[in-house]
Amino acid sequence: MTGFFGRLLRGLAFASAALALLPLQSAHAHSGYTQTRYPIVLVHGLFGFDSALGVDYFYGIPGALQRDGAKVYVAQVSAAHSTEVRGEQLLAQVKNILALTGASKVNLIGHSHGGPTTRYVAGVAPQLVASVTSIGGVNRGSRVADIVRGVAPAGTVSETVANGAASALVGLINLVSGGSSLPQLPTAALDSLTTAGSAQFNQRFAAGVPTSGCGHGAELVNGVRYYSWTGTRTQTNVLDVTDGALGVLGLAFGEANDGLVSACSSRLGRHLGDYRQNHLDEVNQLVGLRDWFSTDPVTLYRQHANRLKTAGL
Ligand code: CA
Repeated sequence: MTGFFGRLLRGLAFASAALALLPLQSAHAHSGYTQTRYPIVLVHGLFGFDSALGVDYFYGIPGALQRDGAKVYVAQVSAAHSTEVRGEQLLAQVKNILALTGASKVNLIGHSHGGPTTRYVAGVAPQLVASVTSIGGVNRGSRVADIVRGVAPAGTVSETVANGAASALVGLINLVSGGSSLPQLPTAALDSLTTAGSAQFNQRFAAGVPTSGCGHGAELVNGVRYYSWTGTRTQTNVLDVTDGALGVLGLAFGEANDGLVSACSSRLGRHLGDYRQNHLDEVNQLVGLRDWFSTDPVTLYRQHANRLKTAGL
């Protein structure tokens, strides 16, 4: 036990030393590495929030992008609602950001349901969007949503029960994130996230979606660049309490997945890679607990900002 605590104390001392370096970094002038031409807007997924109990949904990511020059905004749309309703909310926020900054376009980066949400805005207002990046995006539906809808078909008592459970979860998230006046309709969210609901959405918003399930999609459509990356592991860190649930959900797939979305469903535009991350690692959750022997999720966002900058976006 002494050996364990000794290692723990040395680990903590190392962590404190590393943390002490952080203010020094921000005291220096930024390098410009992430200084994109257009502002970056981060868009959360289902049951998402901009911050809960002071913890950012995109944990540590806005700061890491801002540190080297990016202008970053975190959108807040309904945690649980249809892609179209969330998309209209995001469109209004994008217009506000453009008015505030004087920029002519934004770079949209969406996680999970944030993928289709950003695609909606690029579809209805391509002139306002420089790029759409989908991370663990539900672009061709999620088997988990299919299963939840399967046990709760429309108009049955079990739907009432399922909707009640989902509403309770949404209520909890709204409570911890300081309350929200945004409308919530969990069944509409689930319908958008099913395979059938996604196929219907893709008929109207096809830009960037691969014609073959697991390939690349078109990179440039209507002047908008499309990119994606995803995780393909379900359990990555024994200390993360969310790994168990993602591990169980991941068993429902029978193909590579991140615990909630299959690798093929996530594909959009130019696919940038599959990583040793689960659905929550993709946004560096919980609080940075991810596979410590693979690429840091935050690094992927920084590299992508640099990619956008290099592309003139
Ligand atoms: Ca994790």
